[in-house]
Amino acid sequence: MVKVSREEILDIINGYDKDDLTIATLGSHTSLHMLKGAKDEGFHTAVVCEKGREVPYQRFKVADEFIMVDQFKDIVNDEVQEELRDMNSIVIPHGSFVAYAGLDRIENDFNVPMFGNRDILRWEAERDLERKLMIESGIRIPQKYNDPSNIDRTVMVKFPGARGGRGYFVASSTDEYHEKINSMLQRNWIGEEDVKMAHIEEYVSGCNYCIHFFYSALNDEVEVLGMDSRYESNIDGLCRIPAKDQLDIGLDPSYVITGNHPVVMRESLLPQVFDVGDKLVEGAKKLVPPGMNGPFCLQTLCNDDLEVIVFEMSARTDGGSNTFMHTSSYSYLLFGELMSIGRRISREIKNGAADDSLDVLIT
Ligand code: ADP
Repeated sequence: MVKVSREEILDIINGYDKDDLTIATLGSHTSLHMLKGAKDEGFHTAVVCEKGREVPYQRFKVADEFIMVDQFKDIVNDEVQEELRDMNSIVIPHGSFVAYAGLDRIENDFNVPMFGNRDILRWEAERDLERKLMIESGIRIPQKYNDPSNIDRTVMVKFPGARGGRGYFVASSTDEYHEKINSMLQRNWIGEEDVKMAHIEEYVSGCNYCIHFFYSALNDEVEVLGMDSRYESNIDGLCRIPAKDQLDIGLDPSYVITGNHPVVMRESLLPQVFDVGDKLVEGAKKLVPPGMNGPFCLQTLCNDDLEVIVFEMSARTDGGSNTFMHTSSYSYLLFGELMSIGRRISREIKNGAADDSLDVLIT
């Protein structure tokens, strides 16, 4: 397969009418605030929408154009791409776009200018690449165990692919690890292949902060725009009953995300926040040029030694940014006006279009 060529994308963007750009995305995930933010910055907006899913975009009045498709994955179809280019579209990727379009097609077949670095999407999706980026950036991540016989403390066991925390489990010894793996195999929850790929890492007992950053390639600056914490089933329900009943209830904890709360950190932790964001941006520039342009999110746990430990990253808008579709405490500090991640992306595109540097922002 041949990768989408940089020259082709630059030709397309050079052919666009810069005064009539459209901000487009797939109707799912964080698209409401991306489209709203684009409208607030004066752009024309388009949503690629699966039939039957159009109501929120109509009722919240965020989309000027609707490109209706039978299935989300049709966003990469040739006709849809042509329609997007005809509207001078810049497409904003998000988690559902990546999941439905698929990394191969985004890298090889999607000939529409995309905001940010399309190559880095694979680095957040594949656990080994993600770890490589985090390790080479020099940020603190949970210790990994290559062999279950080395388990010497409580660990969290994860299986391949983002499963929204489903099927992850906690174990405190090698025996408990094997016991739980065998029980999952017997119930057909996992297969032998999953066991080979099981990822074992230190369980970090701490508070969850998912930090939403924006790296402005135009200003060469890392911004902190908001934070959320996850609301996960069944763990957040289990924690609401006394410990003795938690044992009696006989439920294994699971970490299936169901929602998000906005959150702020104690102020003395913020230097660490900027430090991890800056380090990741520098690491990404070296490993995956042009780097971490645009929004990214670091999912962290802060332990009682007040260490901020990063256990996961998104190299595009993360779903938790929906907690500040209007603004957050942090984006207020920086901008003093309503500023979501969606609006920040469109502001960057607007600035890029004004000083003829869109080529820096798109791939
Ligand atoms: P997914 O990528 O499938 O959504 P995550 O890696 O984000 O899964 O993990 C899901 C949840 O599991 C997290 O939100 C957090 O609550 C918990 N978790 C993940 N890694 C750790 C860890 N090392 N220590 C403690 N809890 C963890």
